[in-house]
Amino acid sequence: MTAPIDARTLPSGTVLTPDLAIIGGGPAGISLALALANTKLNILLLESGGENFDPANQKMYAGDADGVHYTALDAGRLRFLGGSTNHWGGWCRPLDAIDFEKRDWIPHSGWPMSRKSLEGYYQHAQKLVEAGPWIYDKADAIIAAKGELLPLGDGGIYTSWFQFSKTRDSDLPTYFGHRYEDDLKRSRVKVLLNANVTGIRLAPDAKRVERLDGATLNGKSFTVKPRFTVLACGGMENVRLLLASNDVMTAGIGNQNDLVGRFFGDNPTPRDVGTMVVFSGALAPYYNNTMQMGDGPVMRATFSPTGDFCRAKKVAGSLTTVEQPVELDETGKAAVITTALALGVDASSAKAYSIGCGMELLPDPDRRLTLTGEKDALGLPRLKLHMTMAEADFTLYRKTLQELGRQLLASKTGMLRLNFDKREEWSKTMDWGNHHLGTTRMHADPGQGVVDANQMVHGIGNLYVAGSSVFPTYGSSNPTLNLLALTLRLADHLKKATA
Ligand SMILES: Cc1cc2nc3c(=O)[nH]c(=O)nc-3n(C[C@H](O)[C@H](O)[C@H](O)COP(=O)(O)OP(=O)(O)OC[C@H]3O[C@@H](n4cnc5c(N)ncnc54)[C@H](O)[C@@H]3O)c2cc1C
Repeated sequence: MTAPIDARTLPSGTVLTPDLAIIGGGPAGISLALALANTKLNILLLESGGENFDPANQKMYAGDADGVHYTALDAGRLRFLGGSTNHWGGWCRPLDAIDFEKRDWIPHSGWPMSRKSLEGYYQHAQKLVEAGPWIYDKADAIIAAKGELLPLGDGGIYTSWFQFSKTRDSDLPTYFGHRYEDDLKRSRVKVLLNANVTGIRLAPDAKRVERLDGATLNGKSFTVKPRFTVLACGGMENVRLLLASNDVMTAGIGNQNDLVGRFFGDNPTPRDVGTMVVFSGALAPYYNNTMQMGDGPVMRATFSPTGDFCRAKKVAGSLTTVEQPVELDETGKAAVITTALALGVDASSAKAYSIGCGMELLPDPDRRLTLTGEKDALGLPRLKLHMTMAEADFTLYRKTLQELGRQLLASKTGMLRLNFDKREEWSKTMDWGNHHLGTTRMHADPGQGVVDANQMVHGIGNLYVAGSSVFPTYGSSNPTLNLLALTLRLADHLKKATA
């Protein structure tokens, strides 16, 4: 067993020379290290925090925000081994094929790779998140015993499925630090805890990383001279390190086209966007709660637009969930009675439910992270987020909800009322997934992206980025399973690139 090393105990001025330095011990960094652990590479995993939460360390994540209300920058992520999985919800769902496509109604869309090129990595990613066997949209046979699917008339919305990272031994999802600490100890990976990378230093020709500056909160400093470096500090901190490392590239590393930090994305989760009535009153429990499928995975149903519907109606992705039961007001009750009469169905046992959603934002270059003049305890400039949401984000999702309502009526199963007409009303119920996406976007053209299709920073041959900051568009699925599949693909690329 190789115990992690506490960087605070290193003699000041220590120089480390690994083949590969991975900056950040969240799920991306840990999974990359383990995927490469059986190669000949000497790997150094540098993690800012220790094994547990430490307020002084967490404070380095503080920053500012303006625009649309958003989670405080030091509340929506965690800075210790395991990263933000130390408080994640464990919701998993693969991205859809359409998420990778160039969608002519969504500016800046189109990944330089297809969903197909991730297929070979999803099973491994699924194992890492411990969400049980890969079932998702093949759930039909398994769920039959647990209650009937709500019939929907033909149309653009179908019942899709989440799986949860919750099948291990408790109701809690997999916390990557605690879960994989022993695997790291048993491997050849050297883990350096309480080790903050404070600068990425390029060679004078700006084509390669020469060294990394490291510092600890007890005043030690050290240097790392790796052959290859992967930045895996999360979708916000990746930006901070790239922008703050501006001694050779004066606008920041990879920022020659002013793209680093732009296109910030998250999945908004507006609450109570609609009220769904089920005429028979019978709703299978997997709609508004998670449910273990026998000895199998924990799952939950959601309503998703099909790729064809998205193309035809020019909408973005969304995953609509059924939430808690609600009481209808008098107008609502009257609407149910008249609709049921018109359809010729019995609605005497009707039940109503609040509807929520996790949705895809349209990419916006002005939704961005920049550096401020304020500095953290190690002298690194803090971040500021400018958060936006467009009118179209609201109107496109309403089209999807209207289609769901139409299909419920067509099957004579139920009806749907949209609760908000105005964006302002809707924004008041807005929550966020705390998924930090898009800030080092992937694009084949260096003029339009920070990293290439292999996640290499354009023009810098030995610097890569892992994590959801590379997503050029966001999809509506939760990101972690997907960023892990991408990271495992990156591991395969690095095996060749480092040979
Ligand atoms: C409340 C909450 C709920 C969530 N729920 C879900 C969910 O249900 N499903 C889902 O898919 N996703 C969810 N997420 C998102 C999920 O947690 C992230 O997608 C995931 O953790 C990102 O992994 P990462 O490794 O890229 O980054 P992180 O998890 O952010 O890890 C980055 C690591 O880098 C370290 N680090 C930072 N700066 C430095 C530095 N300068 N030097 C060295 N190390 C550094 C940090 O300490 C951290 O350990 C949730 C997030 C939050 C906050």
